[in-house]
Amino acid sequence: MEKQTTEVMVNQVRLYLIQGDITRQDTEAIVNAANSSLMGGGGVDGAIHRAGGPAILEECKQVVSRQGRLPAGKAVITTGGNLKAKYVIHTVGPVWHGGKKGEPELLTSAYQESLKLATANNIKSVSFPSISTGVYGYPVDKASEVAIGAVTAFLRRGITSVKEVVFVLFDAQTFSAYLSALSGQ
Ligand code: ADP
Repeated sequence: MEKQTTEVMVNQVRLYLIQGDITRQDTEAIVNAANSSLMGGGGVDGAIHRAGGPAILEECKQVVSRQGRLPAGKAVITTGGNLKAKYVIHTVGPVWHGGKKGEPELLTSAYQESLKLATANNIKSVSFPSISTGVYGYPVDKASEVAIGAVTAFLRRGITSVKEVVFVLFDAQTFSAYLSALSGQ
């Protein structure tokens, strides 16, 4: 069973948290916490490529051959392959180096660039994982505040096709950090 919180509305956009597996979400797009190579990896990245099949990696290769590696804070879009989601938005979060190397700004940018790309593709619903808090080592209490702040700030600007944003948190500790961050809004 997925745990679901009370939703909040930000500028008529529904924002809520669940504990679960992002590869099973049926939002129109899911966001991948990718690395700059876009060639897949561990964590949520590996799970998305396994569940979505080879079409996603094919498109990622085309993106890299066109524009090179994807820098932290940027986002690109591909098919969702075999996923329920029609699209995967791949973004790269910052590696945590103690917090004074622009990590909050890059993490904010990863969320907001993903939402911009969703808007450019007229996407109505988006699921996010907890970007950077796995292998990239960003402390989840800090990352959750940045994540909720970045998404709500974007939605408050009001220029978006998106009507629903879901944070899909894999484990109980991550879920509870995001719940605190959302309650603090
Ligand atoms: P990063 O390299 O950006 O730190 P990771 O994939 O290592 O990315 O971890 C980011 C978060 O994604 C972690 O909280 C991890 O537990 C979570 N995660 C791993 N698999 C899944 C999944 N299938 N669905 C949602 N979140 C996942």
